[in-house]
Order: sequence, then structure tokens, then C-alpha cells
Amino acid sequence: MKVKVGINGFGTIGKRAATAIEQQDDMMVVGVTKTRPTFEAYTANDLGYPLYVPDEEAKAEFKKAGIKVAGLIRDMYKKVDIIVDCTPGDVAEGYKKEYADAGVKGIFQGGEDHSLTGISFNASANYKESWGAQFSRVVSCNTTGLIRTLYPLDKRYGIQNVFATLIRRSADPGNSKSGPINAIEPSLKIPTHHGPDVQSIMPWLNIQTMAVKVPTTIMHLHTIMVKLNAEASTEDVIALWRDTKRVKLVKGKSGIKSSAQIMELARDLGRSRGDMFEIVVWEDGVKVVGDTLYYYQAVHQESDVIPEIIDCIRSMCKTEENASASMSRTDKAMGI
Ligand code: NAD
Repeated sequence: MKVKVGINGFGTIGKRAATAIEQQDDMMVVGVTKTRPTFEAYTANDLGYPLYVPDEEAKAEFKKAGIKVAGLIRDMYKKVDIIVDCTPGDVAEGYKKEYADAGVKGIFQGGEDHSLTGISFNASANYKESWGAQFSRVVSCNTTGLIRTLYPLDKRYGIQNVFATLIRRSADPGNSKSGPINAIEPSLKIPTHHGPDVQSIMPWLNIQTMAVKVPTTIMHLHTIMVKLNAEASTEDVIALWRDTKRVKLVKGKSGIKSSAQIMELARDLGRSRGDMFEIVVWEDGVKVVGDTLYYYQAVHQESDVIPEIIDCIRSMCKTEENASASMSRTDKAMGI
């Protein structure tokens, strides 16, 4: 029997999660929610997702806008095994209580603190920690990116310390309200929250992070320095990542000089929405000098967490015991 999933918050992450769930053969979307009758509510109707809204007032407003409504959000709880909560910050605490009262499981996103759930998720690093859990949290796009490349390095060589600078996109492509649009904005709180967030999954890791926001919408880019415990060559590290799921190696020499060509490649690969689910590492920008590894990686913020959400559903609903098997199944269905 398929796992029945509800999506609370049909925005950037919610609509991608819905697409990926529908691509799997062991889970299905039984409803999505919207709070306002925006274009995404019409899209939910067009795609055939039953649409749920907060209250009777919203129901009347949606109906007036010509949007079909299946019921109230609390009605959706009765139809699901698990909710993927993709709401923006601030409302998750209240929703967690509602899910608990309704007896349904809930996956939260990286905008929430680890303390909300006490368990955070990354498929390769800690799949089993969410096994059967009622609540878990898939870490943010940047944290997912850092863990995807650091976890295999730590397993193979051991890591003494990591220093990473995150060059962050200022807004998602569909967001015309945020900025900066012509400035570079440093995060003045050092270290940024990203290091501690990685430690919510790899608590033993000595990692410091800084971040700056730049006027782009398409990707984040990380510059990373890792002091390794064991000897490694540049070639060994590249070979390790070549064998790592959801890490993709590209070459500047073959014309992929920037985030722009990476997203062009994602569109060429025919992925849904032109998304790049993998963390992309420039092979010719990897270098080991002495005991220190230097590399650049790019993170497609709108989509790298989506396959993790799928694996988290399987771990929490106990439908696949093996992390690697779940990841392979997810990736095959998503064309990764
Ligand atoms: P978004 O603003 O694109 O979408 C949020 C959706 O929630 C919207 O459809 C909005 O209408 C809906 N919503 C707002 N208030 C609601 C409420 N009270 N009840 C139900 N729905 C409500 O946001 P997003 O970018 O998809 O982010 C969602 C979560 O995912 C956040 O925790 C965010 O930090 C995290 N995340 C975002 C990104 C990214 O780059 N966009 C990457 C990784 C994780």
C-alpha cells in the first residue's frame, strides 16, 4: 500500500516535493494546502491535487476565485500518514501541535531549528535516526550541500577541521521582493548558523562557516577548506566523490565555468523544472595541498533537499530499511 502524503505549503519546496512523491511507486500525494488564492492554487487544481485551506473564510474566498477546494487543512490530516511541512518560518510550531493532536507524522524543513524535532535528516549520513519517528527535519539546502561532500570525506579520511564560505543567492527566481539586487551583504554573526546546523547531523565535526549574499537567484556556491586526518591525493578525493550518490562532478574545461552553465546543464538533462538535485563539484577546482583539501561546490537551493525528503518519508514510515536502497530508488524515479 502506498504511503499517503499531505503537503502543507505548496511553495518552492512544497510543489517540488509533490512532483517527486508522485514519481515514486510507494507513496502518493493526497492533498496540498494553500492559504491564499494565488496562481499556485490554480496550478494545484490543474495538476489534480486535492486542495485544502485553513478555514471557512478562506474556502469562500477560493471558491469566489474559481478554485476548487477539497476541504479544510484539518480535514486533510484524516487522509494522510505523513505531512511534509513546507510552510515558511514561524508557523511550524503551531502545526507540529496540530499534527501531534491528529496523530500524523510530520517532516519539517531547514528553515526550522533542530530543536523543533530533536532529529534532523540526511539520507547518507543518518537515515536510521528518523526510523519510525513521528517528527523529523530535513536540513537546509546549504547544510545538505555541506554534508553531501563532507560526510564521505570524514568516513574515508577523518576530518580535523572545516572552514567554509557560503556565497548565497539573494532570493529564489520566483521571488521579486528580496535582495540585495546590487550589493554584496556579509552575514556579520560569525560563525553563521550553517556550521552548527551541520553538527545537528555530524555533531563531532569541527566546522566554522561564514557567508555573504550576492545578487543572483540561481544557486549558492561554497568555497571549502578541509584539513584531513589521513593522507589523500587530489585524484583519490575526486574518485571518492565520483562514487558518491547525489554529488556530481563537472569540469570548467568543458565549459561549465559558473552556476549559469550548471543550471543550463540541468535543463538539458530534462529534469523536472530544470532542477539540479545533486551537489555540483568542479573537478578541476579540487586540490589537495599537504593535509588540506580545497574545493568549490554549487548548490541548487530550490531542489537539492527534495530527494532527501523522499528518503525521510521512507525512514519515518519504515518502508525501506536500507538507506542506500532508498536513495537508489528515489534517484531512479527522479531521473538523477
Ligand atoms: P515559499 O515561500 O516558497 O513557500 C511557502 C508556502 O507556504 C507558500 O505556498 C505559502 O503560501 C504557504 N504558507 C504560508 N503560510 C502558511 C500557513 N500558515 N499555513 C500553510 N501554508 C502556508 O517557501 P519555501 O522556499 O518553499 O520554504 C519552505 C521551507 O523550506 C522553509 O523552512 C525554508 O527555509 C525551507 N527551504 C527553502 C529552500 C529554498 O531555497 N527555497 C531550500 C531548502 C529549504
